[in-house]
Amino acid sequence: MWLNVAGLILILIVLCYALIPNLLTRVFRVGAVTRGPAEPVVALTFDDGPDPNYTPALLDALRAAGVRATFFVIAEKALERPHIIERMRREGHDVQVHGYRHAFVPWLTPWAAIRQVAGAASALKQRFGIVTRFYRPTWGLCNLASFVPWWRASHRLITWSIMVGDWRVTEPEVLLQRILKRLRPGAVIVLHDSDETFGAEAGAPAGVIQLIPRLVEEVQARGYAFRTVAEWL
Ligand SMILES: [Zn+2]
Repeated sequence: MWLNVAGLILILIVLCYALIPNLLTRVFRVGAVTRGPAEPVVALTFDDGPDPNYTPALLDALRAAGVRATFFVIAEKALERPHIIERMRREGHDVQVHGYRHAFVPWLTPWAAIRQVAGAASALKQRFGIVTRFYRPTWGLCNLASFVPWWRASHRLITWSIMVGDWRVTEPEVLLQRILKRLRPGAVIVLHDSDETFGAEAGAPAGVIQLIPRLVEEVQARGYAFRTVAEWL
């Protein structure tokens, strides 16, 4: 009997702590920004970098296309590869928080979940002078601590409106068609500039880099302008 009650309480705690926050943000789209205002504007965002093998080439492609993007970075990698972050800033890109490490947040303790944001934000501020305002949780998954108001006031949760499976090696043309099919005013497109994350296929970001010129051309031809998250939201 007591074992059953304890088991029930445990299930309830897990539901409230790790599951319900993700149902809200991912399924019901409550509590997290998923898209911008319904204007002919889109945000191009990249998760998981900075990556020494791909991010510099991606920055080259963005510069050639004349587009500024938003990078949701892993603070630990940013500290290891400061020259890439400095280049992002020099070239007018927006740098925001993806986490201190690429952790599975639903399993983290409240303190560790908060450190994912607060620790990353303070590292980016101290090392680079970057004041971040947005947090995209790793894998888009959070827990109840991610809703703690004292840091949510400083960092808004953000996910995306268009995700196309670019973490697997995919033909750039296929990625392009998937994006165009779902393109709407206010879209937030998420792509990845690293294959170091668990679940990513080696070499996948090369297709993302190849995609950039065509993507920019096709999106602009449909009357959309690109904005960074910070200047737009
Ligand atoms: Zn990620």
